[in-house]
Amino acid sequence: MRAIQKFCLFLLLASFCWLAPLQRLNARTPTSLPPERRSSADSSATNSKRAFARTASPGLAAPASGGLREVIEDRYKSRYQEWKREFLSTDIGRAQWEMYVHHPRLVLTITVAGNNRNGAGTGKYKWNDAGELIAATIVLGSQADQGYPSSVYYPVMNALEPFESRQLIGGSVLAATKIAHEFGHVIKIASTPEALYLLQTQLVPVYNKIFLSNGYNVSDPRLVELAKKMGGNPVELWEDREYWGEANAMLFLRDRVAKERFHCRLFGKIKHAVEEYAKNYEERFAEIAKSQGATYACSWK
Ligand SMILES: [Zn+2]
Repeated sequence: MRAIQKFCLFLLLASFCWLAPLQRLNARTPTSLPPERRSSADSSATNSKRAFARTASPGLAAPASGGLREVIEDRYKSRYQEWKREFLSTDIGRAQWEMYVHHPRLVLTITVAGNNRNGAGTGKYKWNDAGELIAATIVLGSQADQGYPSSVYYPVMNALEPFESRQLIGGSVLAATKIAHEFGHVIKIASTPEALYLLQTQLVPVYNKIFLSNGYNVSDPRLVELAKKMGGNPVELWEDREYWGEANAMLFLRDRVAKERFHCRLFGKIKHAVEEYAKNYEERFAEIAKSQGATYACSWK
């Protein structure tokens, strides 16, 4: 796929997972505040604040330690429980969920919203003074059990489509796969230095603006310099993040469909899309394919 086409697709899809962190930047509170104050000062996190108010001790705006907070409106509760049950039906889903339930520092909030209905996003990141991630929010679209994103950036979620149309899986498997994808973002961001993340968030719009006005010339010295500072151009940064999300989605599906007859067909479809669009990132997917139990393993090579 040509670089310009990929860049345009990146701009088109950016709302799926990228915009939430961008919007977060301006609302971010000073790091000199203690964690409790930072949460209470966050005017953009109204829903999270309501959740904190319900779960924290009286007088505190946020819990002193980490944990998992589910902030789900009544109208979405039933479908959310179904998606969650699907996610927790796997060993990996349970393990990751428990990790955040008992996390010593990180407050992971999960909510469902009506905008970006078929999508999902992760953002509202906060770090403490020691550089550790202490807050993140996953927003699931209210119809996350529908809609298959492009195979270019979402080779795992996209691969499910024919299996749903043949009624081999239900929409809740798709929604649970989206949850796994978002968990992949949280896991990855926890190992990303705050300064690098903020630098990328600030410079990506600058890069895009120049790119769109210089005749799509990626060799422009200004863009070369910006990419060097950020650790890659926006498409490369985007791909790397999304493919980490997809790798975690694949980990979930590895367990979820392990005993299904179509297991190897699904993995074959993922492999085909990875080879077509994500060749530079194949290793992370191949590792997961190889980690299958011997009984159910299907060949990746
Ligand atoms: Zn994503």
